[in-house]
Amino acid sequence: MAQDPFRFSERLKGIRPSGIRKFFELGLSMKNPIDLSIGQAHFDAPEPVKQAARNAVAEGRNRYTVTQGIPELREKLRARYAGRFGDISGEDVMVTCGVSGGLMLTFMALLNPGDEVLIPDPYFIMYKHLATMVSAGTATYNIYPDFRPTAERVRAAITPRTRLIVVNSPSNPTGYAMTEEDARALAALSDETGIPLVSDEIYEDFVFGRRHVSPREFTRNCIVLSGASKSLGMPGWRIGWMLAPRELSEKMYSLQQFSFVCAPAPLQWGALAGMELDFSPHRRDYQNKRDLVFEGLRKNYRAVMPTGSFYMFPELPAGLDMDRFIEACIRRELLVVPGSACSDRATHFRLCFAATDEKLKKAVAILNDIATGR
Ligand code: PLP
Repeated sequence: MAQDPFRFSERLKGIRPSGIRKFFELGLSMKNPIDLSIGQAHFDAPEPVKQAARNAVAEGRNRYTVTQGIPELREKLRARYAGRFGDISGEDVMVTCGVSGGLMLTFMALLNPGDEVLIPDPYFIMYKHLATMVSAGTATYNIYPDFRPTAERVRAAITPRTRLIVVNSPSNPTGYAMTEEDARALAALSDETGIPLVSDEIYEDFVFGRRHVSPREFTRNCIVLSGASKSLGMPGWRIGWMLAPRELSEKMYSLQQFSFVCAPAPLQWGALAGMELDFSPHRRDYQNKRDLVFEGLRKNYRAVMPTGSFYMFPELPAGLDMDRFIEACIRRELLVVPGSACSDRATHFRLCFAATDEKLKKAVAILNDIATGR
């Protein structure tokens, strides 16, 4: 008998569809859902950014760019990072296809089969699957119940196979933004162990009541990933960037050259136009939304108040298991993400407060009804 022409790779066996995608599709099938499941800003890309992208298309800037990205955007980002981190002469900024693309390149460049990446639990879902795609494994460091990525928690999870430590602040799904104390301790741990940090800072602009802190401020043993998806309201454009030691980054050029080739050319010009925009009105708006949801649920839900991103990760109400809780939400056309989709535990749920106040108020009322058995 002829062999099955489409025999799946071993790698694919470890990959299941995202638990969040399911809700996205469910949302599309509902008439008027309150969808707090998908993690994207509720504002659109700013007009100057759209205009710059349109101009780039009209002016014929539609060819491949050099793999590392257009010099104008890289220079802007370089100046931004130099302002924050001081001496970055040994490092390089590369434009990637989103933070997702940057993570993929990092994992491909630094992990061998059998190596382990340490990720927080709860985690951004993609980390596990990206590790699987490069035939590596993941282990988690537990950040429950306060969601602090402390050095002690990370240290306790390190094994001889650990090759990378992923930190994500502000965090998806917890909303926790790292303090300077957290960042200093993580940096010291990385220096002591020689295990590099991969710092996913995609929510860097969404920090409330404190400054955004990166562990890169305190160690050079750190790859910084960020991008325009959340801050510029353009997740579909696939523009991200990475600050990494030059010799590593140059290796990643080849990986990007032979996979993504380059980030979308006209959209790099669009992102460049977004570099000078003032984010503070959005930050205030999101802080108000955080307050609306946190205060609204406070009586009936135990939750850590988010200090960043646009997620909250409350505990399930007493007496309800995950299935019954999610079912109760869906019956009322409210979509949230079961914590089990982004954690090894099934005790919490993720709610994204990037929505209109009107939707958030309705969601708060529904969640309170569910918690009080109405
Ligand atoms: N990292 C985190 C923590 C995220 O939440 C997301 C998107 O939800 C990404 C990375 C992916 O970002 P990008 O659109 O830049 O690939």
